[in-house]
Amino acid sequence: MIEILLATRNPGKIREIREIAADHAIIWHALDEYADLPDAPETGQTFAENARQKALYYASATELDTLADDSGLEVDCLGGAPGILSARFAGPACDDAANNSKLIEALAGVPRERRSARFRCAMAWVHDGAVALETEDTIEGVIVDDPRGANGFGYDPHFFVPALDRTLAEAAPQQKNALSHRGKALRTMLALITERIRTS
Ligand code: IMP
Repeated sequence: MIEILLATRNPGKIREIREIAADHAIIWHALDEYADLPDAPETGQTFAENARQKALYYASATELDTLADDSGLEVDCLGGAPGILSARFAGPACDDAANNSKLIEALAGVPRERRSARFRCAMAWVHDGAVALETEDTIEGVIVDDPRGANGFGYDPHFFVPALDRTLAEAAPQQKNALSHRGKALRTMLALITERIRTS
């Protein structure tokens, strides 16, 4: 059994990570167990820097091996925004609805062929106090004005995936996880962690 602290308070990420890793013998620890611990600083310039920063912070505070996910949406015609600011695109205390409204306003008048976008997910695993493994992956899509679907979280209702012919919020959880930035980055990470532990 591997014990890992999951370095996020985002319920959508927690649900997906547990589903994607369901076949692995992992005892997950949650930040709920550390309710008094202040949130990690997030001052990096890239998803990978932020994932490392969060994993190192929570591992140091808890002395547990820790997995962090830093992720977000990159819209090409917005120069890659909201990018690392995805969670707080509409302001420091905003929610998914405010972020989605701001996104759709920013794309007003932009034709579909210029609405290409991707989700990116960087993961870092801290083992014995140091960053031991990192992975990163993406899923490509197109931003649509009208929200569709009730699954997923965040920008999913506006993220149309041509390969699925539906938005990520219309996709069943298994369908999303099979193709998503998080699903791919986490499956790679779990294979690397398993190999690292087997050979250590
Ligand atoms: P983080 O917690 O700083 O990594 O910010 C993640 C933010 O990116 C979330 O709050 C969402 O706004 C967005 N995001 C990341 N992954 C997804 C996803 O799978 N679906 C929809 N939005 C996502």
